[in-house]
Amino acid sequence: MDECDFLIIGAGIAGLAAAAELAPHGKVALIEQEAHPCFHSSGRSAAIFVRSYGNEVVQAITARAGDLFAQAQAEGLFSAFAPPRGVMVVTPKGSPNSGEAPFREYLTAQEAARLMPCLDAGRIDYGWWEPGACDIDVHAMQTGYLRVLRAHGGALIAEAPVRSADYRGGRWHVEAGAHLLSAPVVVNAAGAWIDRVASLFGAHPLGVTPMRRSAVLIDPPGDVDIAGKPMVVDVDETVYFKPDAGRLMLSPADATPVEPHDCWPEDLDLAIAIDRYERLTGNSVSHVHRGWAGLRSFVPDECPLAGPDPDVPGLHWLGALGGFGVQTAPALARLISRQILDRPREMDVDLIRAIQPGRICGRAEVYRPELSARS
Ligand SMILES: Cc1cc2nc3c(=O)[nH]c(=O)nc-3n(C[C@H](O)[C@H](O)[C@H](O)COP(=O)(O)OP(=O)(O)OC[C@H]3O[C@@H](n4cnc5c(N)ncnc54)[C@H](O)[C@@H]3O)c2cc1C
Repeated sequence: MDECDFLIIGAGIAGLAAAAELAPHGKVALIEQEAHPCFHSSGRSAAIFVRSYGNEVVQAITARAGDLFAQAQAEGLFSAFAPPRGVMVVTPKGSPNSGEAPFREYLTAQEAARLMPCLDAGRIDYGWWEPGACDIDVHAMQTGYLRVLRAHGGALIAEAPVRSADYRGGRWHVEAGAHLLSAPVVVNAAGAWIDRVASLFGAHPLGVTPMRRSAVLIDPPGDVDIAGKPMVVDVDETVYFKPDAGRLMLSPADATPVEPHDCWPEDLDLAIAIDRYERLTGNSVSHVHRGWAGLRSFVPDECPLAGPDPDVPGLHWLGALGGFGVQTAPALARLISRQILDRPREMDVDLIRAIQPGRICGRAEVYRPELSARS
């Protein structure tokens, strides 16, 4: 039996960030069922930081995370932000929707097509532009977080699916692959599997639904230089595309509810993506490269779950990170660790209330509200 202070289940970006936050304060075991970290959602994302993305709660957490990305860079932990490429929301001709939102500037159709030459100004009415949006280097985050974990004596335990858990003497005793581990505190960061893992600890599932999102790499039009050009989303969020190492990453923005699994794209979804791209831009797709899919997991209010389980001792949730898990992970991991260590939360009490797991089952009270930023 390996005795630890903190067990973290799931080495996606959320679990990695939590491991790095907790490692200076005790012995951490980061447990992963796959052979490598970021094998599932965290290794399959568009990896872009967009301040206007998601609801107001997600936007507030993203803003906080932006400060922590900057801090990580200043401290030499990792440098994850690429130079801004911006994101553009465009309104196809005749669409009744606008796309106006905080952090976005208005663009005429001509300005939009100048910024992203794949677009045809004749096919869009106007656009909204968030110039500060930038790619996130997920590998740099992963490497930086693992370095902190190991520097403090923590370990990544791969190929170790958690199969059972038992609470005795104030500690969780966990069977993970061939390993037996124990700790008083467990962070459940199991992504699409978060409800299943929670059940192993006797917690009520919170209704997290994994949704499949597909993507494919295509060649851009032959005469267009796309380097450093913005990501483009149509206003109804039915298609988006983004330059990716000389090609375009294209997605139909699908959200198909599925069971947690190692998912692959359906041919039909990729065909829909190509059709929508061709209609939006007027370009024909000449060559299709590899496709992939990942799971974006949501609860109905589309806010994250970050905080203690309302009933089960020592169990903390960190998940339901939808389409914003990479850009919010630093802030959510900071909050989780501060709650576990009983330190000032560095987050507003209303925000903590909006993301605490207890809200899902009508238990919205915040533990130790006096430690939140506005107490
Ligand atoms: C196509 C696509 C585009 C996206 N674009 C963006 C974007 O631009 N910006 C952004 O911020 N987000 C984006 N996202 C969302 C982002 O990828 C996710 O929110 C984020 O990766 C979730 O991280 P996670 O750590 O919670 O989950 P995961 O990365 O899935 O990690 C969970 C881990 O838990 C492990 N696990 C599960 N069960 C067990 C068990 N029993 N024992 C041990 N280990 C277990 C899994 O193997 C997995 O490695 C996108 C997602 C997709 C699919």
